[in-house]
Amino acid sequence: MGLVLVSLLILIGVTVYLFVYARDPQSFLFRNILMLLTGLFLLILFFFFIGLLAMTSTILGNRSFPGMDWLIDKTLLLLFPVVIALGRLFQIAQDKIQRSFIEVNNQLVRARRQRVHARQYLILLPHCLQRDSCPHKITLSTDNCQKCGRCQVGEILDLAAEKGVNVEVVAGGTMARRALTQHDPQAVVAVACERDLSSGVLDSFPLAVIGVVNQRPQGPCLNTRVDMGALQEALSIQLEHLEQAKGAR
Ligand code: SF4
Repeated sequence: MGLVLVSLLILIGVTVYLFVYARDPQSFLFRNILMLLTGLFLLILFFFFIGLLAMTSTILGNRSFPGMDWLIDKTLLLLFPVVIALGRLFQIAQDKIQRSFIEVNNQLVRARRQRVHARQYLILLPHCLQRDSCPHKITLSTDNCQKCGRCQVGEILDLAAEKGVNVEVVAGGTMARRALTQHDPQAVVAVACERDLSSGVLDSFPLAVIGVVNQRPQGPCLNTRVDMGALQEALSIQLEHLEQAKGAR
């Protein structure tokens, strides 16, 4: 959020600079072009300001406001690359920024209280969760997993079967996009590293994606793990609402 504020301050600075510069007696055409640019920057600032206000109210109030979801998504989509660039400039670890973004996104999804049937859910798992020595092609079909217990894939498949949700194991963004097209889910719980999760969440807007950051005891992309408690909690957000919806009928 600090970097978001810095981005806004930079935008304000540019707008003020343009305004002051445009007032300087220059050629008529030049002055009007600068005035037009100042107006454009003011509009962008207003858009971001309302978007951030709506985002903060949604998270703090734990409820969404009609018509604001689109604005919040666009604000995140447009500001996130700026925040990442600023993070690089200030030498802040990218993982940290991406993790914060995933947390903000998860809170927004939670606040929206979307009611989705378990069959319309998809769990997306990264290929690196599979034991590296496992010969079974679970990216082709999760049915190929023998649930031998040498990695967590079998355990997650059991959990998914119990909840009635679909699971796909993907190796990269192209496979993830294909899985989304194939299942056409209304909500997704995705496990991945910070970088893949943040880019996946942004690519999938406005689809509700809850991100669960993986654990990497042997370094990136090798025999990774996931906190089963965090995964169950991510799933329960949606199933809980389903139960509430049933109870309300
Ligand atoms: S649980 Fe499944 S994916 Fe993991 S090592 Fe065993 S067979 Fe392979």
